[in-house]
Amino acid sequence: MQDLQALKQALSTPKKVVITTHPKPDADALGSSLGMAGYLKKKGHSVTVVTPTDYPGFLHWMSGNTDVLVFNEGNEEKASGLVADAELIFCLDFSVLSRIYELGELIRKAPADKVLIDHHLEPEDFARYSFWSTAAASTAELVYQLIVDLGDRHLIDKNIAEALYAGIMTDTGSFKHPSTTELTHKVVADLISLGADVHRVSKLIYDNNSLEKLRFLGFALSEKLQYLPELHTAYMVISAEELDKFKSRTGDTEGLVNFALSIEGVVLAALFVERPEAVKISFRSIGDFSVSQFAKDHFEGGGHKNAAGGKSDMSLEETADKFLHLLPQYKDQLQEKKLIYQ
Ligand code: 5GP
Ligand code: MN
Repeated sequence: MQDLQALKQALSTPKKVVITTHPKPDADALGSSLGMAGYLKKKGHSVTVVTPTDYPGFLHWMSGNTDVLVFNEGNEEKASGLVADAELIFCLDFSVLSRIYELGELIRKAPADKVLIDHHLEPEDFARYSFWSTAAASTAELVYQLIVDLGDRHLIDKNIAEALYAGIMTDTGSFKHPSTTELTHKVVADLISLGADVHRVSKLIYDNNSLEKLRFLGFALSEKLQYLPELHTAYMVISAEELDKFKSRTGDTEGLVNFALSIEGVVLAALFVERPEAVKISFRSIGDFSVSQFAKDHFEGGGHKNAAGGKSDMSLEETADKFLHLLPQYKDQLQEKKLIYQ
């Protein structure tokens, strides 16, 4: 509450604002950022959204997309000037500055007050204003709540509503994950009343596949999906060469890990993808098994209890081997949680 009044005061005069989010932004990261940007611009602030990297083409429809500065696409100097000059820096959908590498260090050094809005576990203590809740299904839900709490619900237009709706829809797995609450639906109901077209947003995000992406999905499911019934674990290991073969683009592997999790009886699912900078890993779980803890303990990562990520600087094969050798010690925790859902 103290933070809210202080932030309200800070936003009462025009400010130079930078908004940033995590690398390879997903719909929640980008939707929160562009929703927040749209709102702050309407309040008369001068706002730039800086993303550490590019993001999938199925997010390009969002209003404000063409003004986004992608840090690692030759915009390092421009972005570092904006960060140094900013009066307020919003960090959305991530909460550890090291996760955005060089941009994170620039932000740490910048004199601006930082505003953290996030729902990941274990945030770093760097923000002057913090709106953080792991109970929130998505950062977009927190952004909506913040705008409402600041007394500005009337400023949420169709564009802002659709960006926020996209974040909530995807981070809840289309309102299926346990994080989906009565409040989530109330927020979404309000976003619809403010102009969000749910059919349009879901078509733009989910039905925007290239033929190659679908062929790649077919390949991954038929050739790459491994299942270890005794350990209730399913996983896929995808090499750079395989990504190349299917002309894979940013975002094409998003959601793949959920297919592994959908196998009956699976408690832990993992996806290993060989990227130029490192092996990127996605973890998902059902029930009590904390993939956030698992990613933190073994793969330099973190996230949420049932959805987390990490990375490895070892080769793809060594990374997968490490994972497979770790599993037996978790055997008891990986026992089937099927009864919960009957
Ligand atoms: P995804 O598997 O979709 O990339 O990520 C799943 C969740 O874990 C997301 O909420 C994402 O922000 C978080 N996450 C992914 N990679 C990392 C990481 O390296 N570190 C941390 N702390 N969180 C991550
Ligand atoms: Mn999120």
